[in-house]
Amino acid sequence: MADKHILVIGGGIVGLSAAWYLVGRGAAVTVVERDRIAASASAGNAGIVAIGHRPLPWPGRSRQALSWLLDRSSPLYIPPRLDLSLLKWLWGFHRACRAERVAECMEIIGPLDRLSLRCWEEILAAIGVACGWQRAGWLDVYASAAGRRQAEQEAAVSRQFGVRTEQLDGDALRERDPAFSEQVHGAVLYPESCILDPGRFLTGLVGDLRAAGVTIREETAVQRFLRRDNRCSGAVLVGGEEIAADEVVLAACAWSNPLVCDAGVKLPMQAGKGYHLDLVAPDPAPRSGCVLVESSVAVTPMGDKLRLAGTLEFSGLNLHLHRRRVDMLRRAAAPYFRGVAEAREREAWCGLRPCTADGLPVIDRAPQLDGLFLATGHAKMGLTHGPGTGKLIAEWLLDGEPSLDLSLLRADRF
Ligand SMILES: Cc1cc2nc3c(=O)[nH]c(=O)nc-3n(C[C@H](O)[C@H](O)[C@H](O)COP(=O)(O)OP(=O)(O)OC[C@H]3O[C@@H](n4cnc5c(N)ncnc54)[C@H](O)[C@@H]3O)c2cc1C
Repeated sequence: MADKHILVIGGGIVGLSAAWYLVGRGAAVTVVERDRIAASASAGNAGIVAIGHRPLPWPGRSRQALSWLLDRSSPLYIPPRLDLSLLKWLWGFHRACRAERVAECMEIIGPLDRLSLRCWEEILAAIGVACGWQRAGWLDVYASAAGRRQAEQEAAVSRQFGVRTEQLDGDALRERDPAFSEQVHGAVLYPESCILDPGRFLTGLVGDLRAAGVTIREETAVQRFLRRDNRCSGAVLVGGEEIAADEVVLAACAWSNPLVCDAGVKLPMQAGKGYHLDLVAPDPAPRSGCVLVESSVAVTPMGDKLRLAGTLEFSGLNLHLHRRRVDMLRRAAAPYFRGVAEAREREAWCGLRPCTADGLPVIDRAPQLDGLFLATGHAKMGLTHGPGTGKLIAEWLLDGEPSLDLSLLRADRF
């Protein structure tokens, strides 16, 4: 196997996990990353390995999205513009919110959840990085009657697909985690989930990959694919340098679109910008990873800092940080926790989620270009499913087929 050279495009959780499984099986691997390694959404996300989390399209979600669009303080923001690809994407999203379609999605999300959790534990045990990994569950926390109804309805649907949940009233929640304020009514616990500091994890993973002999090239962007006999045989970098490879894995998040087009595939994918605000951990420091139902803001303790993360902004492929949206994170979280309103700010950040219209990733061979594998579109679940995706890609590439049936994740399904 060592004579097989694999080129991985994109140094986020998906590309680096694929590299880890590939090098572990003896392949020679090069990762190219247009920016700094481990600085993308994969490092800046909320740090929740969310087992049982729902895909972005969900029954009732398109109606909720319409009302959010009229509310400037809501988690959703779409600056008005005429963009045909966005309009098509929104229509596809609306159609994917049908209950039958969501049921279909959950058929693959469940197995992907379980595989990924095993992969997380396998990688963590092997690389031994201290990244605050806790298998203590994730909470959907509410502070209103409407929030409670929403959390309970969503939990009921998740349970139909075999996801375990537990209901906690406000007192039980405060007993578990005294940082929650008296304004919190209760929560639904998803006990199989985990939290971690994703930036620290990725730094450890990159160190392990380098030690295993993976070549990692930062600030190196791929412009197009190399072809020989209608087969992908590597990539051409911006600047003209060519990298030859036996097989190529494309894991370039929302930036995958132009490269995917170069391979003859059309993916309805939008960049869903999200923000984080890192605070110095308040006293008492929250211990649990949670999502606040009323605002969809995630709150995750990460050692001496507390990360508030969320909002979904469809403003194209850019990393402009809108301060107003960062401030909304703190305003949304302050009523739920003592000390958050005053806590000192450490860092404000934004990054992009790769969002397909139907909420499912694409994990597939490129239908029209042999030798190219696509691994993208994980939207708000990429941290959760990145390691499992990496393993499946390595199996497909080295064994000829993946151990899960991935037909729901085909690139030509749209
Ligand atoms: C605010 C926020 C909170 C989130 N919270 C969670 C969470 O709690 N749990 C969860 O499961 N998921 C979460 N997510 C989603 C998750 O972070 C993403 O789905 C995941 O990081 C996507 O990983 P990736 O490897 O596909 O993409 P990325 O991490 O973006 O990596 C892709 C890399 O490819 C590089 N690249 C692009 N084009 C090229 C090119 N041409 N040549 C070379 N390199 C290129 C990019 O620079 C980038 O570094 C969150 C996302 C956000 C924004």
